[in-house]
Amino acid sequence: MSGVAIVAYLSAGVLFIRSLGGLSRQETAKDGNWSGMVGMGLAIVVAAWTWLTETPELRVNGLTMLVAAMGVGALIGGMLAARVEMTGMPELVAMLHSFVGLAAVLVGFSSYLGPRGIDVSDSVRHAVHLIEVWVGVAVGAVTLTGSIIAWGKLKGSIGGKPLLLPGRHALNGVVALAIVGLAVPYMQAPGTDGVSSLILMTVLASLLGVHLVMAIGGADMPVVVSLLNSYSGWAAAAAGFMLANDLLIVTGALVGASGTILSIIMCRAMNRSILSVVFGGFGTGDGAKPAQSADGPQGEAKELKADEVGQRLREAKSVVIVPGYGMAVSRAQGAVNELTRLLREKGVNVRFAIHPVAGRLPGHMNVLLAEAGVPYDIVLEMEHINQDFPSTDVVLVIGANDIVNPAALTDPTSSIAGMPVLEVWKSKLTVVLKRGMAAGYAGVENPLFFLDGTRMLFGDAKKSIDALVAAVR
Ligand code: NDP
Repeated sequence: MSGVAIVAYLSAGVLFIRSLGGLSRQETAKDGNWSGMVGMGLAIVVAAWTWLTETPELRVNGLTMLVAAMGVGALIGGMLAARVEMTGMPELVAMLHSFVGLAAVLVGFSSYLGPRGIDVSDSVRHAVHLIEVWVGVAVGAVTLTGSIIAWGKLKGSIGGKPLLLPGRHALNGVVALAIVGLAVPYMQAPGTDGVSSLILMTVLASLLGVHLVMAIGGADMPVVVSLLNSYSGWAAAAAGFMLANDLLIVTGALVGASGTILSIIMCRAMNRSILSVVFGGFGTGDGAKPAQSADGPQGEAKELKADEVGQRLREAKSVVIVPGYGMAVSRAQGAVNELTRLLREKGVNVRFAIHPVAGRLPGHMNVLLAEAGVPYDIVLEMEHINQDFPSTDVVLVIGANDIVNPAALTDPTSSIAGMPVLEVWKSKLTVVLKRGMAAGYAGVENPLFFLDGTRMLFGDAKKSIDALVAAVR
C-alpha cells in the first residue's frame, strides 16, 4: 500500500473517532455526522483506488463492476433513507446490521473458496487465515439472522413476547460447542474440502442468531438492538482481517467497542445484566411469566378535555413533558415545541424527562426534540429529573407508556420488573395523551392510568397538543 493510502486510511480512522466523539453530545452531533461521512467517503475512494492499482488486470472490468455495484447500492440506500419515516428508523437500522452480517459471511466464503493471496506453505499464516474465516462467518451469521429477527420484532411482524423454549440455555450451549467442534475437521481438511463444515457451521450460527433474539422480550429489545450494532462491528472487523484491510479492522473495532459500551449503558439504565441479554433472556427464567396480557381495564380511567388541561397548564409553575413512542408516531414534536415556547413565555418552568429506552431507538426522543428546536438545556435524562416529580404541578405524558409504568417497581412478575421508570405519579397531576387504552411495546398493563392523580386526554397526540396550544393561547 502506498504512503498516501496509509495516510488517507489514518485520516479516515481519526475522522471516525471524531465522529463518535461528536455523536455523544446533541450540540456536536451534526459535526460528528459530517466527520463520519467525510471519513467514509475517503475510505471508499482510497480502498477502491488501492484495489485497482494493486490489481492492474482488474482495472477495466473491476472499475466497471465497482462503479455499477456502488451506483446500485447508493440508489437503494438513497431511496430507503428518503422514504423512511422517523418511526421506521429502528427497523432500518436493524436491517442495515443484517447487511453487515451477510457481507461478513460472503467475504468469508469467497476468501475460503477463492484465490486466497496467502502462502499455504506457511502453515501458521494459513491456519490464522482459516480461523479468521471461521470466526468472521460465525459472527456474521449470528448478526445476519439475529438482526432479521430484531427487524421483525421492531416492525411488529414478529410478536414481542420472548420465545422461551425448555432448556434453551443448554440448547444454546450445545450449538456453541458444535460451532467450535466443527472447526476441527474444517482446519484439518486439505484445500477447500472444509467447505461442508463451514456451511454446516453457518447454518448452526444462523439458527443461534434466531434463537438468541427470539428469546428476548419486548422491553429488553433496546439492548438487543445495540448489541447487534456491536456484533455488526465485530463482523466488519473480522471481514477486515480476511481482506487484510487495516481500516476495516479499525472501523469494525470502533463500532464493535462503542456498541458494547452502549449496550452496557442501556443494561444499567434498564437494570438488566448484560450476560442475561447476550444469552437470550437468561434472567427471565424458564417458568417466568413472559408478559402480562393487556386485556381488561384495572379500574376506571378519568378523562380531561383539552381546555381543562390547558387551564391547569396555564396555572402551573412547573411542567414536565415525558415524550414516548406515540409522539414519534403522530409527529407531534413541532407542536410540542410550540406549546413549550408558549408556556415558557407565560413564565412556566417547562422541562423534558427522557427515559433511556423511550421510543424505538436509543436517543430517539432527543433526535425528535432537537429536530423541532427544543432547547437542549431543558431536556433532562431520567436520573436528573426523577427526584423533581413531587414538586411538579403538571406532567404531560405524550404517547409514552412502558417508561412511566409503576408496575416495573411494584410487580415482580411483570416482564418489565426492575426497570427504572419515570415516577410521574408523584407529581400533583399527570395527564396521559394517547388514543385509547392500548398497551405499550412490552404488552403490559399500566396501573398509572387508573391512579387518583392521573387524567387521560384521548386522541392522536398531534391533535391533542394542537388543542392544548389553542387552549393555552
Ligand atoms: P410504548 O411503546 O410503551 O407506548 C407508546 C404508546 O403510544 C402506546 O401505548 C400507544 O397507545 C401510544 N400511541 C401510539 N400512537 C399514538 C398517537 N398517534 N398518538 C398518541 N398516542 C399514541 O412507548 P414508550 O416510549 O413509553 O416505551 C418504549 C418501549 O419500546 C419500551 O418498552 C422499550 O423497551 C421498547 N423499545 C425501545 C427501543 C429503544 O431503543 N428505545 C427499541 C425497541 C423497543 P394508544 O395506541 O392507546 O394510543
